[in-house]
Parts: sequence; C-alpha cells; structure tokens
Amino acid sequence: MARHQSKPVKIVYSREMEKRYPTNPVENPDRVSLPAEMLEGLEFIEPIPADLEDIARVHGPEHIGRVKTSGLYDAAVLAAGGAICAAEQAVGGDPAFALIRPPGHHASSNRAWGMCFFNNMAIAVQKIRPKAERVLIIDIDLHFGDGTVSIFRGDRNVKIVNPWSVDENFEYLNMDQSRYLAQVKEAFLGFDCDIVGVSAGFDTYLEDWGGLLKREDYREIGKAIREGSEEECMGRRFALLEGGYHPDLGWCIKSFIEGFR
Ligand SMILES: [Zn+2]
Repeated sequence: MARHQSKPVKIVYSREMEKRYPTNPVENPDRVSLPAEMLEGLEFIEPIPADLEDIARVHGPEHIGRVKTSGLYDAAVLAAGGAICAAEQAVGGDPAFALIRPPGHHASSNRAWGMCFFNNMAIAVQKIRPKAERVLIIDIDLHFGDGTVSIFRGDRNVKIVNPWSVDENFEYLNMDQSRYLAQVKEAFLGFDCDIVGVSAGFDTYLEDWGGLLKREDYREIGKAIREGSEEECMGRRFALLEGGYHPDLGWCIKSFIEGFR
C-alpha cells in the first residue's frame, strides 16, 4: 500500500469528562483535564454520548442496568461516545485520540471491573464495522485487556495484541523497552486490517505501576503504530485512553501523539 500524507491527530474531548463519579480515587478528573491543557493547539472535537443501541451491540441488558443504577451511566456513555467519535474520524481518514474516562478494556459483555464499565473500544469497533470490517486492536495498557479479548473471542476479523507486560493472569513479566516496541511492530504481521485501534493505557510508564516505559518510548510506540497503519490501512488509526495514573500522564500522552500524529 502506498504511503499517505499524514494528517494531524484530532483530540476527542469534552469538559464533561472532568465530572466526578463513584470510582477508585486514582481514576480522577485530572487524568483528562491536565492532558487536555497540554494538547491545546491541536484540533479538538466534542463528542456526544453513545446511544443505547450502540452500547447494546456489546453489552447485555443486565450489565447496562447495573451501570444505570450505579451513578456512572452518563459518564460511561459519554466515554463510549468519545470512542465512537474517534473511530469515525479514523474511518474518514483523520487520525484521532480520544481523551476519555472511565476506561473500558476490562469490561466484558456482562461484567466489568478495574475501573471500567462499558468497553469503549468494542463499542467503537462494532459501530464502524460496516465500514471497516477487519480491525487490529493494539492494547498498550500495562494490564491485559481481558474484557476486549472476551468480547471478540472467535471473531476472525478482529486481531487483538497485548504487548507483554503482564500476562493473562496479571503476573508481571520480564520485559525491556526494545522488546516491548518490537511486539508493537509485530502486531501488524500476518493480518490485513482496515483500521487500527489503540487501547492507549499509560500505566506501563516508568514512574507508574508498570515501571518500564519512558516518555520517549511512547513517541516510538505512537510512531510505530502510525507507520504500520500507513503501510496496512491507508493510515486509518485511532487511540482511546485506558489506564495511566501518574501525574506525568499528560507528558506520556503528548509524547505518544507526537509519534502517532
Ligand atoms: Zn491498566
């Protein structure tokens, strides 16, 4: 595939993401408000909440009912709507980063944990599926994206790669930065995709729980995914914020976007 002129990344964000809701205090509004300030200068797009129909493509009625009674529904549907917005931008040829919370990759169809409620990535992917059938999901969060994997199990048109930092049993693995980056690049091998979605968690950061990746490593990861998408799917790519809890989160996101741009 010919290389395409790279366009600047659009940031999907709403001040509504800064609202407080009942969750673990580490998953707080600063996680999005501070990065949003740092990204001023890029084009911002205001998302709308996902429809119930969009949520119901992925989650069962019991799970949706539980989220509704938890006081989290408005926040969760807005995050999912942000994910859809980013994916639709990417389908249209504009790379996008959704600065959203709560995260989503631990949410499966009928269960959620780990500060996740609705699976933003799966909801976005199912929404754009008519236009982008084959989807590569690269999950760079420290934690294994068990919810996303369970939702797409058996779907041969979706490939999910969790570069190893912790395994499926959440055991920490020995890893270094270069091996991690190599796994990101290898994600593109052996699978023709129409679009790439990144579950962009930043808790593998050196000062965060994972203790592995430096800020500049995120630039290299973003660049590797941009280049892979330019080779494989005309540069169609989007990223959704997942975890990342250190005050340097904004720097990590900024660095990622410098490569992903
Ligand atoms: Zn995580």
